[in-house]
This record gives sequence, C-alpha cells and structure tokens, in this order.
Amino acid sequence: MLPDSSHCVVTSIQALYLHVPFCHTICPFCAFAVHGNRTALHRPYLDALRDEIALRGKTHGTPASAVRAVYIGGGTPSTLALDDVAHMLQSLRRNFKLAPDAEIAFEVNPEDALPEYLAGLLALGINRISLGLQSFDGATLAALGRGHDAGQSRAAAEALQSAGPDNFNLDLLHGAPGIGGEAFRRDVQAASDLRPAHLSLYILDVEPGTLFARNPQVRQWAATHREAQGEAFLWASDFLTARGYRHYEVSNYCLPGREGRQNLLVWEGANYLGFGTGAHSHVDGMRWHNHRHLRPYLRCLEKGRAPDHYRESLTPAQRANEALMLALRRDTGIDVAQWERTYGFLWGSRRERIAHRLVQEHKARRDGSRLALTPQGFLLADGITEQLMVES
Ligand code: SF4
Repeated sequence: MLPDSSHCVVTSIQALYLHVPFCHTICPFCAFAVHGNRTALHRPYLDALRDEIALRGKTHGTPASAVRAVYIGGGTPSTLALDDVAHMLQSLRRNFKLAPDAEIAFEVNPEDALPEYLAGLLALGINRISLGLQSFDGATLAALGRGHDAGQSRAAAEALQSAGPDNFNLDLLHGAPGIGGEAFRRDVQAASDLRPAHLSLYILDVEPGTLFARNPQVRQWAATHREAQGEAFLWASDFLTARGYRHYEVSNYCLPGREGRQNLLVWEGANYLGFGTGAHSHVDGMRWHNHRHLRPYLRCLEKGRAPDHYRESLTPAQRANEALMLALRRDTGIDVAQWERTYGFLWGSRRERIAHRLVQEHKARRDGSRLALTPQGFLLADGITEQLMVES
C-alpha cells in the first residue's frame, strides 16, 4: 500500500535518516542495502533522494516542532563529493524545519577521512562524525575484508581529532575470523585513549546472505567462539566504565551526556523518517520501509510515487513489544508501571517471576518499578525480551 499524499498530516517528526548505499568495496560480513561505488549511479540516486525528501516533506514536513536529529549513514556517505552532501542538506532544510541545535551526524570511512574532506563536512553544519574504523589492527582488518589498512585507521582517527568536532564516534568490530580477543582489547584501549564522545562496539554476526555466511570456516569459527566473544564484551564494558564511559545501550558507550541523539530518539519511540534505499520510517504507530534495491526505488520516484516496499500499522501488542525490546537494550531499562499504563497490558506474575530470576542471576537490576539489564543481561537481550513479550 502506498502513502496517501493528498493531505498534510501534522505530526511531529523528530529525526531524519538519509541512506547512501554506495561503498568503495563490499565487506564480506555486510548485510546492509549497499552497492559497489558506481559513480555513474550517484546522480540518479541523489536526484531520487531529493524527490523523496520533497514528497515526504509534503505529508510530514514543517509541523509544530522542529527536527532534532539528522543522521546520514549507509553504505558509505563519504563516497559522495562535498557538493552532493551540501545539496542533500539543502533539500532537507527546504522541506523540514531543523532545530537550531539539531545534531547532524555523518558516517565517514577511514579511506575518506582526509583533513580537507572533514573540514568541508564541518563547514556544511555537520556536527557529529562517526568513523567506521572497525579496528586499528592490520590482521583484523584483513580478516574482515575491509578496504583500509591499519595505517589508514590510525591516520583517519588522527585527522578526525585534529579536524576538531568534539562530538565524534568510533566504530569497532569484534569477532573477525581467526583473530583472538587480544587484538580487540588493544583496539578498545587505543580507541578510548583518543577520548571520543562516543564508541560503538559490535560483535560480528554472520548474517544470512553475506559472503561470510557462505564460508563454512567462518561459520565454524563464529559458532565456536561465542563464549570468548561474550568474555571480551564484558571485559570491554568493565574497562570502558572504569575510563568514564557509560555503557548506555547494548553496543554503545558515551561520555556523560554524549549519547547519539538519533539513536536515543528512535529507541524512545519518536517519529522518524528514513530516505533512500531500504530506509525505515515510523510515524504515530505506522511503520514502513523503502525498496531495498536501486531499480524499484528509482522507478517509483521517476513516477512521482513514494518508494515504500512494505507498510504496516502496529497493533497494540506490537507497540508494547517494541517498547519493551528497545527499553531493555538500554541501561535505563523499562519502567514496568509506566509500560502497563501506556500500552494497556498487565506485567503480571509470569513476567515478575522471570524478572526475579534475572536479578538473582545478576542479569538484571530492579529499582522500584524499573527493570534494567546488566552487561551480562545485555549479552542475552534478545532471548530475554522474547520471554517477556506479550502475545500478538
Ligand atoms: S563499508 Fe560499511 S556499509 Fe559498506 S559494505 Fe562495508 S560494512 Fe557494509
């Protein structure tokens, strides 16, 4: 079903996401909607993106309150020229009211993190840069099939520090096949030495449809190293907490007050719009995502239609479960009484027994009506959420 764009829906959109699907090389673990960097496709894609922003701006733009966060991700947005980034931001500003203090975040890959490019991004008003390092270690980067080496990781981190955005994030990835936990520990140490406002630490998942998933040795490595990865995850949580970082979400750490605003808004259930291939949106209980592949995405916009691939209105049970899942991924956890009042479901004795057991096993903390997972619990967040969900 396509959105009805014949009338203006005055809802408050708090966050915008722009997807840039091009990458210099495709990493063998990546399950995102991405394409090799065919520069001939940049122009048609950016034109379509501009049209989508204008189309959705007609139904959802310039409502009562202003957008508080913009995130330009991918893919690799830094495959784009600065002029193209400037045009994307102009389209956004033409169609949506951005708050004066909006956080505008942009993902950069190390091979693009040159001083003049970073300075150009900051001059365009981008005030948060997320660097997709994954590692400082040459063997880890090679095992991950990344397009950059250890020297480029180091140079990129230094260039980012000198460029001066005080709000930057470093991404690290643990679990490269054949690489032990020591390299990850050194990475976490080196990254935190740079004192970024934010760190994202991911554990490699062998996702269906990726090159890694087709490699039996990689699958075997992942299956036999889950426990070691869990130990490294807990070590990183202790280590970074001791260094003043807050482990505020399963995969995310920040210095006090420096949470990623886009993430926070999405996790809090705010309304957000996503533009570009595969981008997701959520507005007042309606959720949809765009076509993942370029051709149908471009075709829809050529015909002046929204590029929705799938759209659903969330049921009360889906809304309650989504809120539960997002809350349990954060260190603030879920306020059970408030969840009952908001979604109209009873927490009940079955969930209370599960919560009690989790606390006894040090996988959760209880503070009055609030239940929050500990780092041990974060490791099992998906399974725990499943046990607590309401039936839909
Ligand atoms: S650079 Fe990032 S988005 Fe692109 S293929 Fe690699 S992991 Fe995926």
